[in-house]
Amino acid sequence: MSATPRSPLIPLATALAQLLAVLDERRVATETLSTLQADGRVLAQDVVSKLEVPPQDNSSMDGYALRCADIAPGRVLPVSQRIPAGSQGTPLQAGTVARIFTGAPIPPGADAVVMQEDCMEVNGSGPSAPAIQVQTQAQVGQWIRRRGEDVMYGSTVLHSGLRLGPAALGMAASVGLADLQVACKPRVALFSTGDELVMPGTMAPQDMPAGSIYNSNRFFLAALLRRMGCELTDMGIVPDRLDATVQALRDAAQAHDLVLTSGGVSVGEEDHIKPAVQQLGRLDLWQIAIKPGKPFAHGRVGEAHFIGLPGNPVSSFVTFLLLVRPFLLRMQGVQDVALSRLALRADFDWPRPDRRQEFLRVRRNAAGGLDLFPNQSSGVLTSVVWGDGLVDNPPGRSIARGDTVHFIGLSDLMG
Ligand code: AMP
Ligand code: MG
Repeated sequence: MSATPRSPLIPLATALAQLLAVLDERRVATETLSTLQADGRVLAQDVVSKLEVPPQDNSSMDGYALRCADIAPGRVLPVSQRIPAGSQGTPLQAGTVARIFTGAPIPPGADAVVMQEDCMEVNGSGPSAPAIQVQTQAQVGQWIRRRGEDVMYGSTVLHSGLRLGPAALGMAASVGLADLQVACKPRVALFSTGDELVMPGTMAPQDMPAGSIYNSNRFFLAALLRRMGCELTDMGIVPDRLDATVQALRDAAQAHDLVLTSGGVSVGEEDHIKPAVQQLGRLDLWQIAIKPGKPFAHGRVGEAHFIGLPGNPVSSFVTFLLLVRPFLLRMQGVQDVALSRLALRADFDWPRPDRRQEFLRVRRNAAGGLDLFPNQSSGVLTSVVWGDGLVDNPPGRSIARGDTVHFIGLSDLMG
């Protein structure tokens, strides 16, 4: 076998841009869904309001609607009407007040609401008191929510490409939409390669043959994919043989948008992903200048996209977050897929940085700084369980205690 020339390391930003460019010409498949079912989905329409919210000036307090000019010390103002939420008042007679409740429309002629705690009922008691004395000053407009102050008629309240969350669903409902046009869930087939892998549950720890390990990648990748809203076909473990890998890929490419694998993307004799994908479609094998991570494969098998993650658990985990997550979001029409980074203080030293961009597993401490997990090896899954974020450290940059670093919160990326 001829020696494989060492491929150049590609910067992460270049790799991500090239990976996303694959989706440029692709039309996002969409479906209509009840607004109640659309949490976590990506909006495929602009939501334009056909009304104003709130639709009328209304009271933000239980109290009395009145004209400020009618207030004078000791003056008794008769209650001329009662306006509960859901009903409509009549024009306010001069020199009177309207008993009003939160959310009820302000009657024409009133210019303020005085809360009930600032009024004294006279000639009787209880909410239907026939008259009151106002015991405070009032400003024109106080305790009035203005028509359209939340949403103006014709305004775009939600934009296509937004990943819907609880607040956005409430907004869609507030402008009257019971259904929304959203991107279809990505259909993803997942399998792991590696003859050393054993599925938890099939063998007790004490019976594991030498050299075998449990398949951990399958579990976190399946969970990450489900949290991303994917429709997952979990194909389990595929043996390290070319024929088995080709067969698995052929099956996986049927009716899926993405085939995702872990392991076998290096170029050793036991790594069959490369020849198998090449046999069925096309493949680019990249060495990305990140740590953990580095080997990464992408291409096509039939109609499906293909992505091969490295086998080392932390590499697999981190490359999923850095590359697969944005790919799945863009596939659904999300434009801004950049990770957000916080500037935080390192409470650790990192004197020997790698020449690759590093993603260090760290945890926020009570003093607002970051602690470093002591073992940063790409096989140590404990680091990701312990950590709540990654420090994105540029190539060759050493860190001294007290330096400001770029923190990426893991919980932000878990869905
Ligand atoms: P590979 O990329 O196949 O060369 O695997 C790199 C390292 O990751 C090896 O030590 C594998 O045993 C380990 N590995 C690969 N796949 C998995 C998996 N699904 N779960 C846990 N470790 C794995
Ligand atoms: Mg392997």
